[in-house]
Amino acid sequence: MRIDLHAHSTASDGTDTPAELMAHAAAAGLDVVALTDHDTTAGWDEALAARPAGLTLVPGVEFSCLRVEPDGRRISLHLLAYLLDRNDTQLQAEWQRLRETRRTRGREMVERLVADGYPISWAQVSTLAGAGSVGRPHLARALVESGVVPDVDTAFRDLLSSRQRYYVRKADTDVFAALALIRAAGGLPVFAHPLAHRRGPVVSDETIAAMAAAGLVGLEVEHPDHEPDDRAHAARLARGLGLIGTGSSDYHGTNKTTPLGARQTDPDAYERLLALPSAIRPTGP
Ligand code: AMP
Ligand code: ZN
Ligand code: FE
Ligand code: FE
Repeated sequence: MRIDLHAHSTASDGTDTPAELMAHAAAAGLDVVALTDHDTTAGWDEALAARPAGLTLVPGVEFSCLRVEPDGRRISLHLLAYLLDRNDTQLQAEWQRLRETRRTRGREMVERLVADGYPISWAQVSTLAGAGSVGRPHLARALVESGVVPDVDTAFRDLLSSRQRYYVRKADTDVFAALALIRAAGGLPVFAHPLAHRRGPVVSDETIAAMAAAGLVGLEVEHPDHEPDDRAHAARLARGLGLIGTGSSDYHGTNKTTPLGARQTDPDAYERLLALPSAIRPTGP
């Protein structure tokens, strides 16, 4: 079984439409793929309609969250939420608020870049995002299109990372509020890339333990942004806290170099996830 539990489509900042993502997942030899766009379920219907017969689709979301650590550090973190009731009104309202803050923040980052003479515009970024959740990968593509940088990676490294002056925070959801919302909607929350130091600061082990006590069910152990030490640390935490250790590519189409299935979830871990009660079930064979 080849299982990849984290992938993006044009409903957020991936470059495959949901239907293309389904075809690419089958072509990559995956048996199971999860669709986890940022703060939206808008891609679910198209993916469900386009799912090839042999492929299982796990519908999900990647929820933008914030943790204020006891020492005052504000840390951005992502929760994957699988198999939840997408019609839950509280979640819908929160995701709509997050999509709005993504647009406002995208606009503000563009303004800062334009003020320093970079030849991009909000209209260009907005066109690249289309109807999807706006994200930094759309700004990165605009910078590539305008010849400022050769590729998306360089755009992140030199201009868009949280360590750069053009970075603007989104007004993300408190992670404990998000855990409560996901559980109330029958979803299964898994902490995405919990130890990805290369993206920015990460939360403490104590915070991860508190998240486990608040309903978290898993940790992404295998992820392209985890160094070997990060994977070992995440695996140790998962074992100690009784959390399921998952693995995934975090595929974004051509917005990233990682192919589908580059990291995978162990079939035993997938079984453990499916054994938990959830609002909906995966669709597939
Ligand atoms: P945002 O949600 O707008 O803050 O943007 C974060 C998104 O940018 C995440 O989905 C990341 O996967 C993506 N990202 C972060 N670093 C890079 C990078 N170096 N190259 C491409 N995408 C990246
Ligand atoms: Zn993304
Ligand atoms: Fe993420
Ligand atoms: Fe992601």
